[in-house]
Amino acid sequence: MDVEIITIGDELLLGRTIDTNSAYIAHKISALGLNVRFKSSVGDDVAEIEEAIKLAVKRSGVVIATGGLGPTDDDNTKKAIVKVFQRRLVFDEKLLEDIRARYARRGIEMPAINQNQALLPSGSHIFKNKIGSAVGIGVIEKDFMFIALPGVPVEMRQIIDDEIIPFLKGKSLGRPLQMVTLRTNGIIESQLAEILSQDLKPESGVKLAYLPGESGVDLRVVGSGDKVEIVGESVRRLVSYIEKKVSKHIYGRDSDTLPSVIGQLLNDNDKTVAAAESCTGGMLGEMITTVSGSSKYFLGSIVAYANEIKERQLGVSKGLLEKHGAVSEECAVEMAVGCRRVFECDYALSITGISGPDGGSEDKPVGTTYIGLSSAHTNFARRFNFGVDRQTNRARACYAALELLRREILDID
Ligand code: ATP
Ligand code: MG
Repeated sequence: MDVEIITIGDELLLGRTIDTNSAYIAHKISALGLNVRFKSSVGDDVAEIEEAIKLAVKRSGVVIATGGLGPTDDDNTKKAIVKVFQRRLVFDEKLLEDIRARYARRGIEMPAINQNQALLPSGSHIFKNKIGSAVGIGVIEKDFMFIALPGVPVEMRQIIDDEIIPFLKGKSLGRPLQMVTLRTNGIIESQLAEILSQDLKPESGVKLAYLPGESGVDLRVVGSGDKVEIVGESVRRLVSYIEKKVSKHIYGRDSDTLPSVIGQLLNDNDKTVAAAESCTGGMLGEMITTVSGSSKYFLGSIVAYANEIKERQLGVSKGLLEKHGAVSEECAVEMAVGCRRVFECDYALSITGISGPDGGSEDKPVGTTYIGLSSAHTNFARRFNFGVDRQTNRARACYAALELLRREILDID
């Protein structure tokens, strides 16, 4: 069954509000095994909302809209619904009582304008709103379902979770979905695609998606179909094919993160880590400590942004800094070595780079980053170039450092 999402509101078209509602709905709906095929956004204009709804119900079995259900003049969704579906607006006395009671509980007299919220298109199905006064409205016919929800994200989410998902589940519209995400780092999307496409035998009902992000490229394998066991077999076959082809790049699956994976490894091996960070300004320490229990293996991080701190706290020599600069392989190694000495840890990671947008040169363009690692067996640094955007560079540097550590612990080249 195809699903379509319409988000309504001038602020969405002006770019003042980012449309997070449709992402939330799509995520929840696709987990049910329903296909979200279209998304659109329209302003608060009645005729344009009408047009969007008409088009959507023509091509999709389930249409979910958000926004424009409030009591004010710019809330036009109900006006459009009654026109498209040829209904009347009727007062729902029970709903009016509920809304009044809600205001009474807050010790506020209900503003007269809120009476509008008890006006519903005739014959609507009501989806309860536990948080606010605009209920979800369903126009349910034999060959389509149109559902309008309030735009306020917290209200929309509550109605989706508590009302819409169980309602759609009850209708058994979806094809069961089986999904495995393999998480990679240290290899770009096109290289992965090149390697994986070599002997890939496509099977119907199973799709492979490449999802690049700051932490690397996620490989998502999705199978759908009513024959759960056969689909499950196909998914497993593709997953093990990928695992065989690119095993060293895969650090985990599904909810694993690089910080959680290295946390597990350090814990299992009874080892500790510390960091010396220049361009990432503490971000690596922040990432490592997102994992609960990280105090067992993470000793701390020195943010050595200024050269004097690299010298004084980490023992990087003045001569080295003058000769090679702070963004250099030599400096990254010295930072890691100094960090391991200061913290007396098993592994020390260091990051020094040019995050941008300024500070690049021909030799060392923006994005050039050196990541160092020091352990009882080795001291080395690798050069990376992550790109041009400051925030992305910094995040990627942290993930690359964690990946370096993962490969060091597991002895992967
Ligand atoms: P209300 O009863 O508050 O008027 P409503 O159903 O009329 O609710 P809107 O007026 O369209 O909803 O939006 C209410 C709030 O929710 C606004 O702050 C808006 O920016 C936010 N919002 C609306 N649509 C979205 C969306 N698609 N994604 C994220 N936020 C949204
Ligand atoms: Mg509104």
